[in-house]
Amino acid sequence: MKDTNHTSQVTRHKFSFNKNRLCLVSCILCLGALIFFAGCATAPRGSASLPTYNIGGTSYMPLSALCESFGIAWDYDALTRTATLTKGSHRINLMPGEKMVLVDGSAFDLRQPVDVHQGALVVPSRFKEQILDNLFKARYPKEEASLVLPQELKKVVIDAGHGGKDPGAIGKKGLKEKDVNLDIAKRLAKLLKSEGIEVVMTRSTDNFVSLERRVDVANNSKAGLFISIHSNANRVRSLKGLEVYYISPANDSKRALNFAKSSSLELDRSSFAQSPSLNLKTILWDMTHVSNRAESVRLAREICSLTKNNLDTNVIGIKSANFYVLKGAGMPAILVEVGFVSNLNEERLLKNAFYRQQLAETIAQAFKKYARECALREAG
Ligand SMILES: [Zn+2]
Repeated sequence: MKDTNHTSQVTRHKFSFNKNRLCLVSCILCLGALIFFAGCATAPRGSASLPTYNIGGTSYMPLSALCESFGIAWDYDALTRTATLTKGSHRINLMPGEKMVLVDGSAFDLRQPVDVHQGALVVPSRFKEQILDNLFKARYPKEEASLVLPQELKKVVIDAGHGGKDPGAIGKKGLKEKDVNLDIAKRLAKLLKSEGIEVVMTRSTDNFVSLERRVDVANNSKAGLFISIHSNANRVRSLKGLEVYYISPANDSKRALNFAKSSSLELDRSSFAQSPSLNLKTILWDMTHVSNRAESVRLAREICSLTKNNLDTNVIGIKSANFYVLKGAGMPAILVEVGFVSNLNEERLLKNAFYRQQLAETIAQAFKKYARECALREAG
């Protein structure tokens, strides 16, 4: 139903704005001149210039101005007191007085309610930062949109941990790790594919895949990167946060020898006059592993730093470990523990499809940032 009250309210608001337009225009001109002469000719574009209001200690933004800056169509239904925002395939519903909003059908907690200020709907700044920026990527400058991938990053293996008869960790409310992992892995795969990256999944359904098989899939794919997705659990239920693992250097020489012996992991023979000895192959694999570890750490750092930036979640940080899949992968490899299903709050978050999408987007953005840096390093 169309809301005529709201429309007239908006019209009234526009009318009072018109009356003051002359004064406003001259103010803007003065301000513009001031900025120009102060040498700050490039005022930030878009939402940085949106008005904000402090209501009860929380920063709020007008919904209409936000929608305009993001190119979002919106409507308010007075009968159900629901505002509906639509852009592309995304749909957001919110109600004045409510902290919860629906984002593509999933609930999201704004922590502070949607409010009415000077007769217009206002939303906590968190709405922009956590929802609009993530859905519509306003925070990422346009020039970063085109991604030139280094050759070795054109193919990526995504490994959804556990599956089938192996549920992984199970939360108090019944959330199974295998389901969280698979969902995030699929979302991540979709995002990477949209950037032209070839994605190999170790599993794309709820089936059991052994660790050996996962490593074989990764190594046979000749992909340049291995990303394993897991969810954490701990007896200490207060433990929470995201952590990213890379392979521990503890057993490097043994690992290099195993790789050198493995027939399926031959190094490029064309560069050798004769078949390299086991000793030489071991040395080469050792060097490869050291270099792969450095790359893994780079990507792991990007994921942690972007998670801190994008998501309102705890970040434990990067750690090394001797996990089977990390040990077996002959390429840079990381294992992301996206959160603790054993923590009630994180179990609730991981149950939320919008949060899982945010996690996938954060990992994809970290990948892109990492890929850009790789390309720059290779170029210069
Ligand atoms: Zn796991």
